[in-house]
Amino acid sequence: YQGKRGTADIVVYAGERAAHPTQWLVVQAELRHALERDELVLYYQPKVRLADGVVCGVEALVRWQHPTRGLVPPSDFLPAAEQSGLIEPLTAWVLRRALADQVAWTEAGRDWTVSVNVSVRNLESPGFAAGVAALLAETAVAPSRLTLEITETAVVDDMASALQALRALAEIGVGISVDDFGTGYTSLGRLRGVPLTEIKIDRSFVDPVLSQPQNQAIVRAVIALAHGLGCRVTAEGVETGDVAAWVMAAGCDEAQGYLYSKPVPWTQVPMMEAIR
Ligand code: C2E
Ligand code: MG
Ligand code: MG
Ligand code: MG
Repeated sequence: YQGKRGTADIVVYAGERAAHPTQWLVVQAELRHALERDELVLYYQPKVRLADGVVCGVEALVRWQHPTRGLVPPSDFLPAAEQSGLIEPLTAWVLRRALADQVAWTEAGRDWTVSVNVSVRNLESPGFAAGVAALLAETAVAPSRLTLEITETAVVDDMASALQALRALAEIGVGISVDDFGTGYTSLGRLRGVPLTEIKIDRSFVDPVLSQPQNQAIVRAVIALAHGLGCRVTAEGVETGDVAAWVMAAGCDEAQGYLYSKPVPWTQVPMMEAIR
């Protein structure tokens, strides 16, 4: 499999496990290097409260600033990180960075929650919840200013230890969000017992909501479900004003998408304050 970015030397950043084992090892080795050399960067995408258009939070989205390949998107290296165990130091790095940035925004007077995507591998790892609690204490970030996003597909694996970690984190006040809702395999029975604070409706339902009436029924049902569970509901992938108006009228609390902003580097984040 030839890497998308065209260099002939190494192959790798396939979304799936590379077919050839040596190629697989190359990704792992490079990723380990990336962590050591501090080549990962966080971009942030704002979350907008629909009622007043004010930014209420930001989501951290990791990228790899590769010395020769440029900015590598997470879909090209997260699968390798998850399958190799490197997701643990990667998530630790993301959390530390995001909480440090959260401290800076708080000092600048911005009342934002920071959302961090975590893998089920993290939740299953013993000591994860304690590690997050320790980082919060160390950085003096209020736990309610951190939300962990879990992709619905990820919630499937080994629920027992993951649930235990989620409950421990919720108990100290960390927000728990189900990402990409509607695309995974999670049954409602599995969600029961997870102390959720937010459900994010996947953009595959949101984006075509005006052109495909079936999506309207799905989005309305998810909003009702989320509110019934006492969660906020966020529409992902809002790209047009018409879609924003529709999801707001349907009862969505928050929205995210290119309409408001693409994910941007940290240096551009302060400009997000008055987005509308
Ligand atoms: P996600 O958490 O669902 O994040 C939303 C993705 O959709 C982001 O892609 C974002 O750039 C993109 N997006 C946002 N608004 C729009 C829009 O209006 N239109 C379109 N077409 N796309 C939009 P990105 O940054 O490439 O991230 C992809 C996925 O990688 C994320 O999906 C998340 O599951 C994962 N990810 C990103 N950063 C991390 C991380 O630090 N840790 C872990 N475990 N996963 C991460
Ligand atoms: Mg997310
Ligand atoms: Mg998502
Ligand atoms: Mg999504």
